[in-house]
Amino acid sequence: MENIFNYKLEDLEEYFLSIGEKKFKARQVFEWIYKKHIYDFYEMSNISKVLQEKLNNTFSTNLLTIKTKQTSKLTNKYLFELDDGNYIEAVLMRHDYGNSICVSSQVGCNMGCTFCESGRLKKVRNLDAADMVRQIIMIQEDIDERIDSVVVMGIGEPFDNYTNVMNFVRIINSPYGIEIGARHITISTSGLIPMIKKYGEEDLQTNLAISLHAPNDELRTKLMPVNRAYPIKDLIKEISEYIDKTNRRVTIEYLLLKDINDTKECAIELSKLLRGLNVYVNLIPYNETSHIEYKTSPKENVMNFYDILKKNKINVTVRKRFGDEIDAACGQLRANEVDKL
Ligand code: SAH
Ligand code: SF4
Repeated sequence: MENIFNYKLEDLEEYFLSIGEKKFKARQVFEWIYKKHIYDFYEMSNISKVLQEKLNNTFSTNLLTIKTKQTSKLTNKYLFELDDGNYIEAVLMRHDYGNSICVSSQVGCNMGCTFCESGRLKKVRNLDAADMVRQIIMIQEDIDERIDSVVVMGIGEPFDNYTNVMNFVRIINSPYGIEIGARHITISTSGLIPMIKKYGEEDLQTNLAISLHAPNDELRTKLMPVNRAYPIKDLIKEISEYIDKTNRRVTIEYLLLKDINDTKECAIELSKLLRGLNVYVNLIPYNETSHIEYKTSPKENVMNFYDILKKNKINVTVRKRFGDEIDAACGQLRANEVDKL
């Protein structure tokens, strides 16, 4: 049975037309689900009995199962079990400006970044739109508060699952859906150039973040094998074209690993690389994991790095450390769970 959370509004409209029903029924169903949080077709009182029955026989509205949940003051971290028994995770972060969720896009990841727990466990499968939409639904239900923004920065490489991720974005962005503003949705990629191009051509106002993590090919290839296929020069050129095309500022994520990419030389090289580009750099403190050797950059290195970028007129911020006390780094919770199996 198809899960209803896989359907964009247009898909559902098409479905209703195909069974000889009025198109606006799709909006009504969307509103029941996404605005009133009713997932049982029989409770949708403006839908006829016959149609309720038909919908019930056609669509599943299954949610996910919360396998574990860890909470701290500003963060909730969820491990979800999917319909097929796989695990993924999502994180809720409470900012001054609202609730933000980091969602996963795949079970595991094939990009093989050497610092990343998600990449340590290879991709099992892509998530479909319903798997992603339901991460948000589950958290919304759990905290009974509105979700204001979404980042696709959990387990997986979203641009290795492009179509499903775009469907997901359109479902949550719909005014009849969860209605998360496009400017409040960010997709983070390790730098798959053809997909960045495609993304720039979508009729969407959503944001792009690039995981750069190194200012030269030698170092970046060591950290991110994907750099072999899509080296820095080409990546920067694509980012520049994306900015020209969309007029949107791009976020550059830069994970700081002690004595690896947090040196003065790296900061200078990064400043040169990004000069003149409409980007802002987000320096990310590394969350150490028990399986991987890299160490968190000490505060002093972080501040020196920051200062050099600032001095070179690069927009830069240091990401607040969210819930490192609760295994909040990308993929850690799932990795621990899978190790136990
Ligand atoms: N695959 C995409 C999105 C998921 S990873 C990408 O790589 O952009 C999201 C971000 O988390 C990436 O910038 C990644 O480098 C970062 N990350 C991975 N492991 C981390 C860790 N242990 N501590 C902090 N950030 C981490
Ligand atoms: Fe995959 Fe992103 Fe982790 Fe790299 S950092 S292995 S692309 S999830």
